[in-house]
Formats: sequence, C-alpha cells, structure tokens
Amino acid sequence: MCAVQAGFLGKRTLILEKADKPGAKILISGGGRCNYTNLYTSPQQFISANEHFCKSAFSQWTVDDTISFFETYGIEGKEKTLGQLFPVSDKAKDIVNVFVTLCHDMEQQIWCDTEVKSVEQIPGGFSVTFERDGKMERLEAAKVVIASGGLPIAKMGATDFGLRTARKLGLTLTETAPALVPLTITGKDQEWYEQLSGNSIFCGVSNDEISFEENILFTHWGLSGPAILQISSYWRPGQSIELDMLPNHNILELIETERLQNGKRPLGGLLAHLYTRKFADALSKYLPIEKNISSLTKQDMETINNLIHHFKVKPAGDKGYDKAEVMRGGVATNELSSKTLEAKKIPGLYFGGECVDVTGWLGGYNFQWAWACGFVIAQSL
Ligand SMILES: Cc1cc2nc3c(=O)[nH]c(=O)nc-3n(C[C@H](O)[C@H](O)[C@H](O)COP(=O)(O)OP(=O)(O)OC[C@H]3O[C@@H](n4cnc5c(N)ncnc54)[C@H](O)[C@@H]3O)c2cc1C
Repeated sequence: MCAVQAGFLGKRTLILEKADKPGAKILISGGGRCNYTNLYTSPQQFISANEHFCKSAFSQWTVDDTISFFETYGIEGKEKTLGQLFPVSDKAKDIVNVFVTLCHDMEQQIWCDTEVKSVEQIPGGFSVTFERDGKMERLEAAKVVIASGGLPIAKMGATDFGLRTARKLGLTLTETAPALVPLTITGKDQEWYEQLSGNSIFCGVSNDEISFEENILFTHWGLSGPAILQISSYWRPGQSIELDMLPNHNILELIETERLQNGKRPLGGLLAHLYTRKFADALSKYLPIEKNISSLTKQDMETINNLIHHFKVKPAGDKGYDKAEVMRGGVATNELSSKTLEAKKIPGLYFGGECVDVTGWLGGYNFQWAWACGFVIAQSL
C-alpha cells in the first residue's frame, strides 16, 4: 500500500521482500479470503500503550478510503458478520494482485527472495544491507520504511527484523506477546475440554478490562473460536477469564418458566434444548442434570446460575506465535510521529503495520491499520 500510494504521488520506491512472493500473510488471511477491513473501525478496537496514537492515521485514511480504493481496482466487498468485509470473490489473492499490478504499472520494484540484514544511519540517509541470490549487497536510500510485520507464523516469513532494528537504532519497544491466539488448559480440567472438542457455543467472554460476545470452540488442548481469540489479546499469564454461556438470557428465569410449565423435565433436558445433548451431558460434571426442575433447591439454583453465567477459566497459557494471528506490542508509539509514523529521533525512518505497538481486534481491523500506515507514510516520503 505504501509503495502504491507513493507511486500515485510520483515517488519511486523499492520493496525488499524476504519471501519468494509478496503478501504471504494476506494470502492466508481470513481463511484465504482476506477480511480486508471492518465497517465499524474506530480507535476503540485497537490495543496500544497510547490509545490515541492511531487516531491521526485513521482520520487520514478511513474505512471508506479502503473500500473505494479496492472498488476502483475491481474488488467489491461483502460484509460477512460484525462489519467484517471480504472480497465478493472470496479470494485473498485478488487483494495481493491489486498491489502487485499497481506496483508493476507504476514501476515500483519488488525484489523477492531478498532478506534485509541491517539498516544503518549514514550522512543524508541510510545504508541497507541485504542478501539476494546468496550474495550480500548494499544500497543507500534517503528514506526507509520498515513494515516487516510481527512475530506470528515464522514459516510464513515472520521475523523480528523490525523490532531488532528499532532496538539497535535506540528506539524503545513495548513488551511483545502473541495476540488473537487460542488459550490452553492443562491439568485435571483438560479432560473435560477434550471430551467437548469440536463443540462450539455462543458465549460472553470477559475479564476485568473488556467483554466480547461471539462463539467459543472447545478443543483437545483448551479453547479457541473468535471470542477466545479476542479476549486473548487482553489476557496475561496467571489471569482468569469468565464465560457467560447464555448471554442475553437468564438461566434462573428460564428454569422458573419451565417449573411452571413442566416441572417434571430433568435439568439436563432443558440444557440439551439450550445447547446440544453432548454439551448438556458434559455439564453433569458440575450440575445435577438428572434432577427434575421442580426438585431443584435454592443451592442448586445458585450453582446453576454461577456455572452458566460466571464460568471461571484459568488458562495455562496460549498457543504461541505459531497459532497467533497478530503480535501485541512493538515499536513504542512515543518514538513515532502519529501523523507520519516517522521516528522522532531518526528523520527519514518510518515504521508501519504490525511491528508498531498498535494491535487490532479480530475482524479486519489489523489490515485497516496496515493500509492506513501505508497511506500516511507515503504522503511524507
Ligand atoms: C492466519 C492469519 C490470518 C489473518 N487474517 C487476518 C484478516 O482476515 N484480517 C486482518 O485484518 N488481519 C488478519 N491477520 C493479521 C494481518 O495479516 C497482519 O496484521 C498484517 O499482515 C500486518 O501487515 P504488515 O505489512 O505489517 O506485515 P506482514 O503482512 O507480516 O508483512 C511483512 C513482510 O515483511 C517480510 N519480512 C520480514 N522480515 C524481513 C526481512 N528481514 N527482509 C525482507 N522482508 C522481511 C515478510 O516476509 C512479510 O512479507 C491475519 C494473520 C494471520 C497470521
């Protein structure tokens, strides 16, 4: 995006890309369909040490700008859910093709199989050392943009280059960690999750900071699904999260209604109606599912309410960078101009995208941030 926007302004750029083709993460994003923006993007869906930092970029490049940019080059969007926009074609490669074609048409060069090894300051600009065709080479540039992504999925080309280079050049980093990542359960509870592997339920998931309502997925090793990925970005090792397994309903009211209509039905029958038989059976570990509704005691009701609406989970950990969709943290925002993303201490050096300490929720927000960075940086190159 940065090279394309620079091209529109008549500026020449050269992209150095380690992988054998550009846009590897775009190609695998959204299950190969690329959720390229979100209609409801606002600064609230981004985690950063400075919650205001992203505002300037998002005011310069809006969701409407993303939509009309892609429409101009033949990509109509369709909303799947919760404002998430995908290409009508369902093909992430259409998104990559827009950039590759525009770069080609505007003679913005892309050198693949080219790994940048270092960026060093020299008088009047930067010396960039890189390995290409097995040979070390060097070139000089007045301005350099580092958009080398975050740490997730090393086999897709992820490196710590951006972080390492920022540190070497004296910029501070905020702590990094996997985000939008499944959470693991170990110990005596694991068996319970294992037996439910493959089951998905609509849940409210919360901690002291935030709550989300989306599906959760039980797996052999713990919990995944959109609501878990969302809360994982706000989770820290040692903390618990709380599941409301019946958001927008009150289990005690449902039981009262059932008691008036058919008190002879066992609790398990009602639970199987609300969830699945398998899930209701699994709840027998915690609830008296064989008991008739009419014979539930006050104590039973309290247990049921706590379990259904306030189910505490203490994850053992997360699935790490191999399964994370993004990295939390990165180049500290106070090192960068929010208007241009230029390093304040190093004029001519820019950081954009995932390597910056701005992390979006699941749902197309991270690409909106990446496109906005590309546009903003291109304006001041
Ligand atoms: C499985 C998965 C699905 C996702 N789905 C979505 C989605 O649907 N919607 C969404 O908004 N976000 C999604 N994301 C997140 C999104 O892909 C990233 O936030 C986004 O790609 C970040 O863009 P970037 O340009 O900063 O970094 P990247 O897209 O990671 O690009 C960085 C590039 O730099 C290259 N590179 C790294 N080091 C070097 C080096 N030393 N020399 C040369 N090149 C180097 C890498 O090869 C890479 O191509 C997903 C992520 C994953 C892992």
